[in-house]
Amino acid sequence: MPEPGRNKHRAPRLKRKGAACCAPTTRARAERKSPGKACLAPTTTARAGREPLGKAVFLDRDGTMIVDTEFSVDPARLKPLPGALQGLRLLQKAGYRIIVITNQSGVARGKFDEASLRAFHDCMVSWFGARGIMLTAVYYCPHYAAGTLPQYAIACGCRKPEPGMLLRAAEDHALDLARSWMVGDRDCDIGAGRAAGCRTIRIGRNADGETPADFEAVGLREAARIILTSAAS
Ligand SMILES: [Mg+2]
Ligand SMILES: [Zn+2]
Repeated sequence: MPEPGRNKHRAPRLKRKGAACCAPTTRARAERKSPGKACLAPTTTARAGREPLGKAVFLDRDGTMIVDTEFSVDPARLKPLPGALQGLRLLQKAGYRIIVITNQSGVARGKFDEASLRAFHDCMVSWFGARGIMLTAVYYCPHYAAGTLPQYAIACGCRKPEPGMLLRAAEDHALDLARSWMVGDRDCDIGAGRAAGCRTIRIGRNADGETPADFEAVGLREAARIILTSAAS
């Protein structure tokens, strides 16, 4: 089973001019020191004895969190969707980890490579971090069965609606999936969230989705309110 890609929030080894926005975040540095991080993470069961499982909001990237730029990895085009900053601040304050879960078939289609994608994600993490929002991790699937690059043109367990990236994130970050949420604008997001045992919210009320989500919201601010209200009740 191929592994999903993961941004580890490390500064690029090659120091390039103009790459200052990609500095690692404080929590990323702390996590790097934690034992067991370099190898396959221990199971959630093993961790459960030591500390209570956390909760997360898994977030689709394009069309949910930032404007979909159609296979672009140019940081200059990074733009949050309306309500994203406010919504994510509310969720963070309520103790949710924010974890990005994104299909990036542009890799398999030969539109950009994984290094460029990771650099874009590093910039995205820094951009949100500078505005007070800590993105705990970014998981991406570079695969696509009909892609043009043979090494990525495979059926995998991580491309949404498969739940592979959420399950991996739950292991890596000791998360309780039943207390966690998946928020996205497409059927594949809702399908992945349901398959992982999370509650789901579809962004964009006009989306003609076929996979029923638990809730619908216009944007992340409304999604955050739904999550906080549901958790309190
Ligand atoms: Mg999307
Ligand atoms: Zn994949």
